[in-house]
Amino acid sequence: MSNKKELLLIIISLLCLFLTACSQGGSPEPTDEFDQEETTENSEETKENTEDNKSDKDKKEETEKDKPSSDQKNNDSSEKQDDSSDKQKNEDDGSANEKILPVGTLSHGDSGQKVSMMQKALNRLGYSLTVDGDLGWTTVWAIKDFQAQFPNLKIDGVYGKNTREYILKAVNGEIEAKPGTGLENNDTEDNNEKNSNIVSNPSSILALVNKNNQLPASYVPKNLTNPNVRFPFTEDLPKKQMRQVAANALENMFNAGDKAGVDLFAQSGYRSYDRQRAIFAANASEHGHEAANQFSAQAGESEHQTGLTMDVTSADINYRLNTNFANTDEGEWVKKHASEYGFIIRYPKGKTSITGYQYEPWHLRYVGEKAAKYIDSNNTTLEQYLSGQ
Ligand SMILES: [Zn+2]
Repeated sequence: MSNKKELLLIIISLLCLFLTACSQGGSPEPTDEFDQEETTENSEETKENTEDNKSDKDKKEETEKDKPSSDQKNNDSSEKQDDSSDKQKNEDDGSANEKILPVGTLSHGDSGQKVSMMQKALNRLGYSLTVDGDLGWTTVWAIKDFQAQFPNLKIDGVYGKNTREYILKAVNGEIEAKPGTGLENNDTEDNNEKNSNIVSNPSSILALVNKNNQLPASYVPKNLTNPNVRFPFTEDLPKKQMRQVAANALENMFNAGDKAGVDLFAQSGYRSYDRQRAIFAANASEHGHEAANQFSAQAGESEHQTGLTMDVTSADINYRLNTNFANTDEGEWVKKHASEYGFIIRYPKGKTSITGYQYEPWHLRYVGEKAAKYIDSNNTTLEQYLSGQ
């Protein structure tokens, strides 16, 4: 009898073990790794930026970063800390206001007490958000709707310094907000940038995509295909894809590279609108919205959505995407020969004021041979080429 009992116990424990193992098992999604990678590579870029050229904007960002409250995921104790140090540093920001609205940046996917505070404040203005501390799409919508009512605010659904100021004014009755009227009167809900245009020729190989020219959210290029080139990973991910015309050119370039003795690797090609939105939100939540905007494109603003772009790298830098690529054999070869295959280094050194992005020696954009050769030999940019400069 006791033997039977023991046997039963053993069977039950084994069953439990099995169930636990099953629920914890399963390989991680390859896309998670991609996210991580995007964030890591980008944070390196940010560091370089901060060290190399401390523009006014950078300094401002640093000041922002110095504020302990820019840390987004706070528990109660760090919240208290924020309050006390903010009082010392931030004279113009009374503690009464901090009880109404948190300081820092909050974007889609963030959660915690600060998000709850913001939701409560928006509800005081007449929004009807569930105060759950999760910054989901409904809250993003409310933020965007609020932003759309004031021309000085960027309609990006991200709660930052300026948006906070305006919500505070509205809560204090200094300005008036009418929930639901912002986006209704603003037909560019998907158009994040105030002054940006929607690209009218998204499928042209010369389509200009940047911070002022956004691809439509619905644009998915035709003829996406996996170029037959080396990748540093084996999974069949969407980021392998390019449009046929660019994939052919990339294969030709890689073959030529092989003959010249350089080992190029392709790292990241096509990226959908939704994917880019997720990447930007992740970067914004880690580095803050303004900082993220310096190195990461917002949805619709990424050339990767065209299917004409590939980030390339080398084993010498562990297949990462950073400016060290320029000093590898592969990077030097690409700089010299990419234009022969219709590619340009889209964000060249020293052209940030024109392209809106830091130097990215790894980011190749297909524009066709004629344009590529012209842009390369005149040391210019796609922006300047298209405007006839
Ligand atoms: Zn890129």
